Amino acid sequence: MRVVECNVCGELISASDDEELVVEVRRHMDDQHGDLGVDDERVRDLVAEGAYDATDA
Ligand SMILES: [Zn+2]
Repeated sequence: MRVVECNVCGELISASDDEELVVEVRRHMDDQHGDLGVDDERVRDLVAEGAYDATDA
């Protein structure tokens, strides 16, 4: 499990791997922060720099 914190609202977004995480963050940005116009490059950067392994409880 990989998680990353949204750099806008701080919500934790999780997915099975980084590739899925990019998709989920993309969706989150569109749904929650569509007015910011976050582009794909910034989504990838956020995942590349901010994602970390979450231990399954
Ligand atoms: Zn957010």
